[in-house]
Amino acid sequence: MSLFDHHVHTDRSDGRLSLEDRAQSVAVRPHGVSDHYPWGTRLRTDDDVLRYLDDAARLGLRVGLEYDLGVAPPLRPSTRDDLHYVIGAVHQVEIGGEWIAFEEAGRFLKGQLAPGAPFSEASRFADEAIRRRILERTLEVVRQGVQETRIDILGHPTFSPLAALGDPEDAFPVEWQERLIELCGSERVAFEVNEAYRVPHRAFLVRAHERGALFSVGTDTHGEVGPLDRTDAMIRDAGLPEDRFLAGTRVRGGAQAGRSTARSS
Ligand SMILES: [Zn+2]
Ligand SMILES: [Zn+2]
Repeated sequence: MSLFDHHVHTDRSDGRLSLEDRAQSVAVRPHGVSDHYPWGTRLRTDDDVLRYLDDAARLGLRVGLEYDLGVAPPLRPSTRDDLHYVIGAVHQVEIGGEWIAFEEAGRFLKGQLAPGAPFSEASRFADEAIRRRILERTLEVVRQGVQETRIDILGHPTFSPLAALGDPEDAFPVEWQERLIELCGSERVAFEVNEAYRVPHRAFLVRAHERGALFSVGTDTHGEVGPLDRTDAMIRDAGLPEDRFLAGTRVRGGAQAGRSTARSS
């Protein structure tokens, strides 16, 4: 099967290939583009996003955004609705006025450190109190993304320094996983199966599937569009059926639907 890849970067943010290059590689396998928002001086405002959307859509691409949860400025509801889909993703969290960066964990999970090198921040994040605060803050920013930004996909779920500690079933209490699954599942927000970080782990995917969740493929590639080797293995190991995956099109309602839901509840 060739599932639609929603999470592909271009040189409009930190990807190495252009929109034109991406318009060519959709022939290799189906994918959209979804650059970081905000990003530098290029993707700062709604108008920047709409220009990005126009430029990419003119080339025949499906166009999303990787919205930086807890950081990005709000999008106008009409901008959100004009995009084909929005991925929300957490890359850092603020705890007590201090930003906890995920970069080092990212390099570790992507296998970019020297072979056999340990996760250098492991001792810091072994602390139970800081772990608990990261988990709670993550749920807060995801909730804002689901309810206010109306994201369609949760990008690289569970990616954080906790995912680099070893056993994810130990790092992420089942009770916390269930809350995240309920938060997204109840609003038909899909969980991304992320090729680059290899998250979320199998037990999370199985739990989410048992609750009727939707899923989405995301290679998170910044370079060439390669094979979905890890993704295919993760999907197979968790037993996720193809018909639970998004196909470049959002399934949840727009701003209008959001407001009516809020009114009726
Ligand atoms: Zn990301
Ligand atoms: Zn990304």
